[in-house]
Amino acid sequence: MTTHDQFTNYVLPTYGRFPIVPDKAQGTHLWDSEGNKYLDFCTGIAVCSIGHCHPRLTQAIQEQASKLMHCSNLYEIAEQGELAQTIVEDFVKIPGKIFFANSGAEANEGLVKLARKFGHTKPAASGEARHEIITFGNSFHGRTMGSLSATGQPAIQQGFAPILEGMQYAEFNHLESVKALISDKTAAILLEPVQGEGGVNPANAEFLNGLAALCKEHDLLLMFDEVQAGFGRLGEDMAWRAIAPELEPDAISWAKGMGGGFPIGAFWISDRRIDPDTTLSSQLGPKTHGSTYGGNPLACAASLAVLAEIKEAGLCDNVKAREAQIRSAIESWNHPAISELRGKGLLLGFGLNPEALTFPYGQTSALALVLKLTELGLLTVPAGADTLRWLPPLNVTEEEVDQALALLKQALEALSA
Ligand SMILES: *Cc1c(COP(=O)(O)O)cnc(C)c1O
Repeated sequence: MTTHDQFTNYVLPTYGRFPIVPDKAQGTHLWDSEGNKYLDFCTGIAVCSIGHCHPRLTQAIQEQASKLMHCSNLYEIAEQGELAQTIVEDFVKIPGKIFFANSGAEANEGLVKLARKFGHTKPAASGEARHEIITFGNSFHGRTMGSLSATGQPAIQQGFAPILEGMQYAEFNHLESVKALISDKTAAILLEPVQGEGGVNPANAEFLNGLAALCKEHDLLLMFDEVQAGFGRLGEDMAWRAIAPELEPDAISWAKGMGGGFPIGAFWISDRRIDPDTTLSSQLGPKTHGSTYGGNPLACAASLAVLAEIKEAGLCDNVKAREAQIRSAIESWNHPAISELRGKGLLLGFGLNPEALTFPYGQTSALALVLKLTELGLLTVPAGADTLRWLPPLNVTEEEVDQALALLKQALEALSA
């Protein structure tokens, strides 16, 4: 039976899949089962952050897999301790504590629980626990019940009502819309510093700093979902620092790029005091949360290798240089089909002008362009109907970016009316 037939017969059709069967990959390149070679600017949706099968990552996994794969969080896992210290000291650089999970949705569930717990510890003046979380239109936080409830996209919640109670959706980059939703029930604000799935929309500094001020004023938690944008993707260790470096969040979630392809997620909670003798991180104390797999030795060894490579190879500098290279090329093209280039670092969204492109009825401009690019040998991913997203590995070279730009130009020409 072919892979395609197996998918038809045995795999739930939850994804619209491209007709490619990936076979192997190395660095920025991927080969399919028919031997076609692609430049990979999708990287499993921002996951393979140091490129496919990086020797450092592969070796770390191989060594750990033959030493100790899994034990349990009933024990003090050395690799987990090491990874927590690395994240707090070298990346977040604000005192706090980490919980390890296996995915982005799971990490965000932790943030939702933190907000609820905080709202119990510090209730409204009436004595009633605060439980509402303000999130944003076009956000994406995952597919579990809590995270899909936080996701401000009706299409993702369609058919799954009743969703988790207490989610309020404000307008992204619109401070007044947030103010209007704050009540004595509000406990936290949760957002992506750059919305990824929702179309590559970066928050602006004024907005983030405004949210931080509102959180201070109303005693709310400021929580960042950095699942897609964290760990170097935006050209800084942490995503929010690429936008509003002076700000200090209360909690952050990550997944995707932190494992470079090995499943791992995590969230960090600040050690700041929420009253004279209570820290925020103490809110998730003994028996409040757990995960069988979360932070197991194998996942942590993989993540340690990825984070060490990001630091030692200076990948944030490369991210900034490659972003500048892409921006200057797109500016010089002044192509009628590209209305704008949004995003930051190597989380970039080409806003497309559908009127300037010809594509089959039933497709969107982004899908048509992704299909054309795939045919030409460049893997990319749509972000909404009219945005083409590029998520190359953080160590993509100048030459590879030039090749991708040439393919993009060729694809736009092919689709131009
Ligand atoms: C992908 C993503 C998630 C969900 O992560 P999973 O690992 O698929 O559960 C959550 N938030 C953001 C911003 C994402 O990009």
